[in-house]
Amino acid sequence: MGRVAVVTGASRGIGRAIALELAAQGYRVVVNYRSSREKAQEVVEAIAARGGEAMAFKGHVADRDEMENMAREVRKAWGPVYALVNNAGVVRDNLLVRMKEEEWDEVMETNLRGTFVATRAFVRDMMKAREGRIVNLSSVVALKGSPGQTNYAASKAGLIGFTRSLARELASRGITVNAVAPGYIETEMTEGLPQDLKDSMLSSIPLGRFGQAQEVASLVAYLLSPRASYITGQVLVIDGGMTL
Ligand code: NDP
Repeated sequence: MGRVAVVTGASRGIGRAIALELAAQGYRVVVNYRSSREKAQEVVEAIAARGGEAMAFKGHVADRDEMENMAREVRKAWGPVYALVNNAGVVRDNLLVRMKEEEWDEVMETNLRGTFVATRAFVRDMMKAREGRIVNLSSVVALKGSPGQTNYAASKAGLIGFTRSLARELASRGITVNAVAPGYIETEMTEGLPQDLKDSMLSSIPLGRFGQAQEVASLVAYLLSPRASYITGQVLVIDGGMTL
């Protein structure tokens, strides 16, 4: 039986692609979502149609009770979790002077606190097993900044510090912790951006195109695999050369 991987925010976009890729590689995949029940169910069905195993699980990543409950139920059904991909994330863009405190708080709550809470819920299985993998979805915005995204950039930069510190904490237990920092990837999160912003971003990408969710999924799958056993505490940028 395959190892168990949990992907938060896997009902669409990058998380969906990660869930499909991991299932194709033989993992049993937990497809976490917050509100898109039907889309999450579609992901589970797509995995089953290809001969894989998956279950959808509703839960807000920053809600400790919901994450602890999810961890208990997953353990009951499939045993200990081997890998956690902290992918759930939101944007609430606004210039700093106009940003409402709720916009700041909501982004911090999901992106940063959510990663903390979900990791605490699942890491015990890995510590007991003395093996495991954690991958956190950061962003190139954490590295280069982006006007209108002080909240998002701060949350994604916070994840880098979190990743490096946790990698040090867990290394002696055989658990690796890495971050992936994508550039512009075509998903629902990015499709609403104004056209002039998309045009200017495109002109700054040496590879001359936006990235696809599948390309991020391949990198995450690699980091979870035995081939990446000596990589920990790193931030892997996947951006078509945008930050060169
Ligand atoms: P989408 O907006 O397309 O999907 C976000 C996913 O996260 C959905 O499945 C959503 O579930 C879920 N989600 C949101 N909030 C919560 C929550 N509180 N608890 C559980 N699940 C939640 O995003 P992307 O696929 O584009 O992005 C995925 C990750 O990659 C994010 O962390 C994002 O910041 C990061 N990223 C994306 C880039 C891009 O260009 N797209 C670039 C760099 C980083 P539901 O549908 O149920 O709401």
